[in-house]
Amino acid sequence: MRYSRAFIPTLRQLPADAQAVSHQLMLRAGLIRQLAAGVYSFLPLGWRVMQKVMRIIREEMDRIGAQEFHFPALNPAEIWQQTGRIQTMGDVLFHIKNREGLVLAPTHEEVVAFHARQHIRSYRELPQIWYQIQPKFRNEPRPRFGVLRGRQFTMKDSYSLDADWEGLDRSYELHAQAYRRIFTRCGLRFFVVGASSGAMGGSASQEFMVESPAGEDTCARCSRCGYAANVEIARSAVEPTARLPESAPLERFATPGVRTIDDLITQHGIPEERCAKALVYIADGEPVLVLLRGNDELNEAKLQAVLGAAALRPATPEELRQYTGASAGSIGPIGLPTPMRIIADERLRDANELVSGANADGYHYRHIDLRRDCRIDLYADVRTVQPGEPCPECGAALEVVRAIEVGHIFKLGTKYSEALGARFLDERGHERPIVMGSYGIGVERIIAAFIEQNHDEHGICWIPAIAPYHVHLLALGIERSDAVRQHSDELYSSLWAAGVEVLYDDREESAGVKFNDADLLGLPLQLIVSARGLEAGTVELKERRSGRRHHVALAEAVDKVAELLRALQEEPWTQPAH
Ligand code: ATP
Ligand code: MG
Repeated sequence: MRYSRAFIPTLRQLPADAQAVSHQLMLRAGLIRQLAAGVYSFLPLGWRVMQKVMRIIREEMDRIGAQEFHFPALNPAEIWQQTGRIQTMGDVLFHIKNREGLVLAPTHEEVVAFHARQHIRSYRELPQIWYQIQPKFRNEPRPRFGVLRGRQFTMKDSYSLDADWEGLDRSYELHAQAYRRIFTRCGLRFFVVGASSGAMGGSASQEFMVESPAGEDTCARCSRCGYAANVEIARSAVEPTARLPESAPLERFATPGVRTIDDLITQHGIPEERCAKALVYIADGEPVLVLLRGNDELNEAKLQAVLGAAALRPATPEELRQYTGASAGSIGPIGLPTPMRIIADERLRDANELVSGANADGYHYRHIDLRRDCRIDLYADVRTVQPGEPCPECGAALEVVRAIEVGHIFKLGTKYSEALGARFLDERGHERPIVMGSYGIGVERIIAAFIEQNHDEHGICWIPAIAPYHVHLLALGIERSDAVRQHSDELYSSLWAAGVEVLYDDREESAGVKFNDADLLGLPLQLIVSARGLEAGTVELKERRSGRRHHVALAEAVDKVAELLRALQEEPWTQPAH
C-alpha cells in the first residue's frame, strides 16, 4: 500500500478519552475510531490485523475438525424465553423496539441448540463442532478501555455437540489445545485459570488470561508450578489460626474509640491473629454475619457462591444498628440481638482465645472460643488471597496480577439441549439430550491485549503474524531524489512479488515525520532508502522492537527482509509463560 493514498489518520496528541495504553495506541496509530460509547469502526490498518487474527483462529479451529457457520445476530426472542435467558441476561440483552419478538444475540447457544434440534437425529451424527466469527451485541453497563469491552464486538464462538460426557471431555480438550495454539501464534503471553473438575460428568470452565494493568480481572498465580486462579476462587496455603490449649472464661471489656482491627492491635496489644473481624451482609434480603481473621479481606464473590445468593451487599450503617445494636467495629458473633446465620472463614476453624466486637459500641469480648461460645453455621473459604501468600499446590509465593480474559471454554452439559429439545437416539434407541460445550474468543481483545504487552514509548511493536503489513518502506527525500524514488518503487514491487506485505511511505514528508509514524505503527521491519545510502549501494533495515539496524547491499535487500521476518516470527517472546 502506498502511504500517500492510504487512509491512515495517525494522531500526534494523546487522545484524551483513552483509558488504556492499547486504546491510546489503537487510536493514535489509526487502527480504530469510536462511533458511539462502546462501538468502534475498524480502519484499514486495524481491519488487516483483525483479518489476520481471524485467519489464525480459522486455521486452528479447522484443524480440530470444527466447521464454520454464520448465524444471524437477529434472534427470535422465543428461543431465549425457552432457556430462561431472556430474564437472566437482564439488561445486557439488547431488545428491538419496533419489531416484536426479536433480540440481538450476545452469544449463540440457543441458535445452535435450535439447529441441532432440527437436524441431529442419531448418535451417528455426533460429535460435531460448530463455530463462527461474528459480531456480538451486549449492552455492557460500562463499556471501557476501547475495544476491550465494547457493546458490539467480534467473537469466535464455537459449540460442541456430543453424545455423552466423555465425548464432551474430548471436545473440551481439543478446544483447550486449539486455544493454546491460537494465543501463542498471536504472540500473547497468557496463562489459564479456573478449575477443571477432572471427574467425568463434572462441569468445568477455564479462562485464558493475559496479564495487563488494563485487565478487569484479578488473578493469583504461581510462577513456580503454574497454579493460577481468579481471586474469586483462588486459594492459598496461609497458616490456620492455632487452637490454644486453654480457653479462659469469656470476658467483656471496654474499648472506647476502637474502630478497626489496627486500633485493637495498637491500643490493646492484641495480636492480629487473635482478632476476629465481623461484617454483616444482606444476602437476598437476609442478614448474615461473616467472621474473618484479623485484617483478612472478605471476597464477596466467594461469599456469594457459598451462600448461593442471587443478590449480596454490605449492610448499611442503619441496618447494622438495627440487626446488631452496634456500628461497624463493635460487631461480633456473641450476643447478637437478631438471630442470623454466621459464616466463618476457614482460617478461623475451631479457633479460641479470640477478640471480637460485643455488639455494643465501645465494647469487645475476649477469650472467645468459637466451639464453646457461639454457633458457627458454616466454615468456608471466603477470604481474598494476598500477594506473597504460599501457593496451595507448591508453597512458593503467589503473585496477584490484573489480567484480560481473552478466551473462555465451558462445559455446558444438557441445559440448552433440554430447554430447546435437541435430542438424539443412542445406540440402544433411547432418546437423550445432546451434551454441549461452548467456547469463546474475543477477537478485538486479542489485538488490544497484544498491544498492552507489545509496545514502547514510541508505539506498537507488532510480530509478523498479525502485523497489518510486514515492512514499512521509508523513502527519505523522495521529493528530491529520483534515485530514491526509482529504487524504492522497485523494492516495493519486488518485495510484494516475494510475498512480503509492504506499506510504502512515499509521502513528501520530512524524515522525522516518517520515522515517528513508522515507530508508532510499529511494523516489524523498517526498510530505509536514502540518497546517501544509495550512493554507497546500500539500504538500511531496522527491527522495530529491538532497534537493531542492518546495512545491506541493495541487491540483497529482499532476501535479507525475508530472513529477518522469519527470525522475528520465531523470537522466544512469542512463547507463552505456561
Ligand atoms: P467479561 O467477563 O469480560 O464480561 P464474559 O465472561 O462475559 O466476559 P464470555 O461470554 O465468556 O465473556 O465471552 C467470550 C469472550 O468474548 C471473552 O473471553 C472475551 O474475550 C470476549 N468478550 C466478552 N465480552 C466482551 C466485550 N464486551 N467486548 C469485547 N470482548 C468481549
Ligand atoms: Mg467469560
